[in-house]
Amino acid sequence: MTDLTRRSLVGLGVALPLLGQFSWANAATPAPPSRSSPVRINYNESPWGPSPGAREAMRQGIELCGRYPYDAQYELIDVFAAQHGLEAGQVQVFCGSKLALQHAVVAFTGPRSLVLAEPSYEAAAEAAEARGVPVHNIALDARHAHDVDAMLAADHAPGLIYLCNPNNPTGTLTPRSDIERLLKHKPAGTVVLVDEAYIHFSDAQSCIGLVKEHPELLVLQTFSKLYGMAGARLGLAIGQAALLQRLEVYDGENVAAAPTLLAALASVRDRQLVPQRKADTAQLREQTIAWLGERGFRCTASQTNCFMIDLRGPAQPVVERLAKRGVLVGRVWPSWPNWVRVSVGDEQDMARFREAFAAVTAG
Ligand code: PLP
Repeated sequence: MTDLTRRSLVGLGVALPLLGQFSWANAATPAPPSRSSPVRINYNESPWGPSPGAREAMRQGIELCGRYPYDAQYELIDVFAAQHGLEAGQVQVFCGSKLALQHAVVAFTGPRSLVLAEPSYEAAAEAAEARGVPVHNIALDARHAHDVDAMLAADHAPGLIYLCNPNNPTGTLTPRSDIERLLKHKPAGTVVLVDEAYIHFSDAQSCIGLVKEHPELLVLQTFSKLYGMAGARLGLAIGQAALLQRLEVYDGENVAAAPTLLAALASVRDRQLVPQRKADTAQLREQTIAWLGERGFRCTASQTNCFMIDLRGPAQPVVERLAKRGVLVGRVWPSWPNWVRVSVGDEQDMARFREAFAAVTAG
């Protein structure tokens, strides 16, 4: 069902709870984990979870749970679109950006191929391989950026080129000029997907602004990372309306959960949240990378909440030894067997990581 049709069917006059009127100072914060619970720095989640404002909005969202929350979904789309100079029809909501990515693979590949970097976030390649779609893995270049020229050369007519910026697992950026070159030289009919799951942590400019000129550009963002809502499941796909309609491959338009939508609204309206968490994450990341550097371990030049360490030997045994000490890190990508990914947790998490890492790499 199209955006307009669905919008015309719901009671647009229904008032949503007034967000922004609650006392954030009084919002509960989670109890710190005890020393016996494992340090979970293995999934690039936020150690801080939803913001205080998002938590309060989630509680208010319970009141909406008896009905399909299309009003909240449209309000989120409208607010996000206004913030980014888009039209409402250029934003689509998914229960997690992974779902949008999987839909993109189904919609735009087969028999045409998927081209992506190696190492990168694996969900697109897994979705393609499950459907027998050819996959071209192109090594990151010496800067750990996407090698867009090699990606363009991999296939004269791929269905989808996936570019993760900043990249998971390296946390590294691909320069804007390279992405623009990719868009300029890609074959007609090939969709370029820029996955911006981690863009809020970085200084890079989002590619959302390029959507207007590029009918075959799809940008994905998520509330799972900086916004700390991985468990609430919300992702956005941004593209021209005709492209987004092609994404509705299985089930047409769907609606997310009411508490999730209200929390997302509170998060995007909070002008302090991104700069604060970005700065806190950068500080913890750089401290940890500097500490590792003093011990002779080099790391990727990350601009996100994860980075990779070159262990100069097989990484998987180190992952296992850290897990025995209650510190969960990873994964190891098969093409980089000596490197391990570490997510940035809070101060306590990183202190426990340093302690365990020093112990398992001693001697
Ligand atoms: N894209 C990238 C690059 C990711 O790293 C992840 C999750 O780790 C996702 C998408 C999926 O995120 P979501 O929780 O929105 O499904």
